[in-house]
Amino acid sequence: MKEYSIEEVSHIVRPKLGEDIPLTLYRILRVIGMRNILGETSGATLYMMGKQVGTMIGAKDLGEFEEKIKELKVGIPEVQVIDEDHVLVKLYECITCAGFVYTGEMFCDMESGIIAGLLEGVFKKKAKSTQTKSWSVGYNYCEFEIILY
Ligand SMILES: [Zn+2]
Repeated sequence: MKEYSIEEVSHIVRPKLGEDIPLTLYRILRVIGMRNILGETSGATLYMMGKQVGTMIGAKDLGEFEEKIKELKVGIPEVQVIDEDHVLVKLYECITCAGFVYTGEMFCDMESGIIAGLLEGVFKKKAKSTQTKSWSVGYNYCEFEIILY
C-alpha cells in the first residue's frame, strides 16, 4: 500500500466547493464511523494516527505549535509548561467535542495524539498525552496532560 505525503493530500482541485467541509461530516466520520469500525481499539488507534500526523506536520517551538493547531482548526490551544517533564494543554473549540452533550466518556484521542506528536518536535523528547477534560464530561473545553520523557 502506497504511503502519501502531506503535499500529495493537500493538492485540492475543487473550484466550486473549495477546501472546507462541514464539521458535521468530519464528526460523523470521526465519532461515528471510525469508532464503529475500530470498536474498543478506536482510542489507541486514533491516538497513534494523530501522533503520526503531529510528527509529520511538525513544530519547532511553542509558538509554531499553537499556530499549527489553530491553522488546522483542531482548536484554540492554551499551553502551560508545568516543569521540564510536564505540559498542560487546554483546547478551546475542539474539533471533535466542542458543543458535545454529556456522555460520561472522553474520545478526543486523535487530538491528543496530534498534540503529543507536535510537542515531541518542540521539546525534542518523547511525549505521552492523556485527555483529562472534555465537553463530553461536562467542561466547556478540552484538556490534555502531557508527560515528556
Ligand atoms: Zn475535544
